[in-house]
Amino acid sequence: MNEATGTSGGGSAAIEIEGLRKSFGELEVLRGIDITVRRGEVVCVIGPSGSGKSTLLRCVNLLEEPTSGTVCVAGTEVTDPEVDLDRIRRRIGMVFQAFNLFPHLTALGNLTIAQRRALGRGKAEAEEVARRNLRRVGLTEKETSYPAQLSGGQQQRVAIARALSMGPELMLFDEPTSALDPELVGDVLAVMRGLADDGMTMLVVTHEMSFAREVADRVVFMDDGLIVEEGPPEQVVGDPRQARTRAFLSRVL
Ligand code: ADP
Ligand code: MG
Repeated sequence: MNEATGTSGGGSAAIEIEGLRKSFGELEVLRGIDITVRRGEVVCVIGPSGSGKSTLLRCVNLLEEPTSGTVCVAGTEVTDPEVDLDRIRRRIGMVFQAFNLFPHLTALGNLTIAQRRALGRGKAEAEEVARRNLRRVGLTEKETSYPAQLSGGQQQRVAIARALSMGPELMLFDEPTSALDPELVGDVLAVMRGLADDGMTMLVVTHEMSFAREVADRVVFMDDGLIVEEGPPEQVVGDPRQARTRAFLSRVL
């Protein structure tokens, strides 16, 4: 945790989720979730498949509309029907398991298109920002490569650089390394670790327990639409209190 996340009260929260519920028809997928992520904090969400982790992230940037409860991002209630969703979404970077790059655009083109369309940046500025972020993810040499010419790990790093190019206040990651060959996972995690070191606020769904242990300020274990246990990684991953957390960890560790 960095100094900026300390004791200045409610105003320092990057994400505040209260009483969040989400149903798809009869199926209640989130059953009352409360989470606060402070600025500069890295929170990892772990839990079995189907427990609601992706739905939780998607409710933060309103890719899913919560059934009830409130979600505030940097003090703005995104669940307020009056809110300007495009403005909110621009403040939140999202990285998915699938990289979703445009196949017909180079790495540089993938990083400039949203800046130009959504932020109205000119070509020169967008390219300058793009190059800075390609450098940040270690892909300076790949700016003219197309996605098909890049490894999965490189594509995911382009996707991270693309999100960073929008200047987000916080980043959401949904299993960013799950689709990668094992030997490519480390490079992506190293980039994420660098962002954490730079003070980026991050909410990360991951099965990488070593990442959660080493990088997270807090780990949240979800099961069946509820938070079962949360706390520092050395407690939740290292010495879990709940039987369900122990059972899950014994399967993934
Ligand atoms: P996780 O990411 O933890 O694997 P998800 O949030 O993806 O879990 O899904 C939680 C539950 O919600 C699952 O049972 C899933 O099938 C269901 N679900 C997710 N999205 C939808 C949707 N758009 N429509 C109906 N059911 C959904
Ligand atoms: Mg998921």
